Amino acid sequence: MDDTKTASLIEFLAGARRVVALTGAGISAESGVPTFRGKDGLWRQYRAESLATPEAFSRDPALVWEWYDWRRGLIAPVGPNPGHEVLAAWEERFENFAVITQNVDGLHRKAGTRNLLELHGNIWRARCTREGTVRELPATPLPRVPPLCPDCGALLRPDIIWFGEPLDPDVLDRAFALSAGCQALFVIGTSSVVQPAASLPAAAARAGARVIEVNLEPTPLTPYADHFIAGPAGRVLPSLDRQLREWTDPGHSSGKGRSS
Ligand SMILES: [Zn+2]
Repeated sequence: MDDTKTASLIEFLAGARRVVALTGAGISAESGVPTFRGKDGLWRQYRAESLATPEAFSRDPALVWEWYDWRRGLIAPVGPNPGHEVLAAWEERFENFAVITQNVDGLHRKAGTRNLLELHGNIWRARCTREGTVRELPATPLPRVPPLCPDCGALLRPDIIWFGEPLDPDVLDRAFALSAGCQALFVIGTSSVVQPAASLPAAAARAGARVIEVNLEPTPLTPYADHFIAGPAGRVLPSLDRQLREWTDPGHSSGKGRSS
C-alpha cells in the first residue's frame, strides 16, 4: 500500500469507534499451527475431511478423539504472535472492538481477546452428546479417550463445527450484526471463500464500512476490499498499531514495545 493510502487509513482508524476483525488460518499458521489440510492434514492414513464429520464420530468416536488429542498436542505449546497481541490490545483502543475467527485453536483467547466469536468452535472445549452442555477440556493428552461427560456419563464430542454441520445460528447472527454495524472490518489471514464467513465482508461493505484485507497474497476478496495490505499479520498489525499510536499521540515517537 502506498504512503498516501496508508495515511488515509490511519486517519480513518484514528476516528473509528466500531471495528471488527475477521481472522482465519493464516494468522494461526504464522504462530506455527498446522493447517490440517492437504498434506499437513494427514494423520495415519486419514484426511481431516474424513475425520471431522458427524458420520466418522458416530462410527468410531475413539478414533476421532485420538485424532483431536494429537492435534491438541501439536497446538498446546503454540503461542499467539504479535498479530494476535495487537488485536487483543485493540479492545482498549477502540470503543467497540470484536474478533470473529474461523480458527479453533484458542490463540485469540490466549492473547487476551475477550470479545470473541468463534465461528467454528474451539478445540479446547467439549460438548455432551446427550445434554448439549459445553465444558473446557484442557488436559493434553486426554486422560481418557473418548472422554465422557462427568455429569451424565454420555460421550463428549469436540465443541467444533464439523464438515456438513451448520454454524451455530446465534453465533452467525451476532457475526453478521457486528459486520453490518462496524465502521471498519479487517479481514486477516483468510482466503474469504468459505461460506458463510465469506459473506461477512460483503455485509460490512453494504453497510458502508471500510474493508481492510491483510493477507500474504491477494484473494478473491481483494478487488472488493478498500485496502489490501500484503504481509503477515504479525508484522502488518504491529506496524498499523504503531502508526495509529503516533497519529493519536504524536508526543510518543516510536512506540515499539509499548503494545501490551
Ligand atoms: Zn452429559
